[in-house]
Amino acid sequence: MRYCRFQTESGARFGKVEGGQGEDMITALLPDFPEAHGTAAAPRGKFAPIPLSKAKLLAPVVPSKIVCVGRNYREHANELGSDIPLEPLIFFKPPSSIIAPEGKVQLPPSRMTQRVDYEGELGVVIGKRCSKLATGADVRPYIRGYVCVNDVTARDIQKKDSQWTRAKGFDTFCPVGPMVSDELDPFGAGVEVTTHVNGQLRQKGNTREFIFGLDILIHYISQVMTLEPGDLIPTGTPAGVGPVKSGDVMEVTVAGVGTLRNSVV
Ligand code: MG
Repeated sequence: MRYCRFQTESGARFGKVEGGQGEDMITALLPDFPEAHGTAAAPRGKFAPIPLSKAKLLAPVVPSKIVCVGRNYREHANELGSDIPLEPLIFFKPPSSIIAPEGKVQLPPSRMTQRVDYEGELGVVIGKRCSKLATGADVRPYIRGYVCVNDVTARDIQKKDSQWTRAKGFDTFCPVGPMVSDELDPFGAGVEVTTHVNGQLRQKGNTREFIFGLDILIHYISQVMTLEPGDLIPTGTPAGVGPVKSGDVMEVTVAGVGTLRNSVV
């Protein structure tokens, strides 16, 4: 299934997305997932399908936390001059950094940072509470689906600070969307992740190049903290990161999910 979250007259709703005649449509309202805290009444009555392109899309996740993975592609670790990690490297982005598809990433003042980078990533959305998984446990029952994430990063601050909270945590630094899909299999042949800036290809990776696969990552995180439904795990970015400036348009595409587009202001 694929679903989005969008603005309706009665508030934010989750909607089922289905391919129409060459166009994706929102075909039905879905009950709120538990993490959305019942912001709208249960869907009732008839829903007239609308084209996805006509909907005011919101970020399709309402996470209690965003647990990111750093340096999970060898070539990206190399381009940053970092060692290949021996165990997963995890850090937080605050949920307050989330913005919607087509939302604008706001550059902080230049006295704070002079280099802000895109990082296109596959995001995992947790579907079921998960804690202290046993070694070798199948993590797939805990995954609701996958989404595109742009782990926007103030690279100069990241290099300066020993914690990445500032570099990764500015408001608007976590575009997520356009929808969540479970119709892809990053456990199998791999899923392509690409990033374009102003239409030019900048990153092209495949999840089969992960240093640590999703099973290792989710097991590892679950030893430390309980993952709740709706929690988001951006799984690391491929090589090719680079800076953006005001006016640039970033597009992160995860094959089978769609394209997340955001401009920089
Ligand atoms: Mg990242």
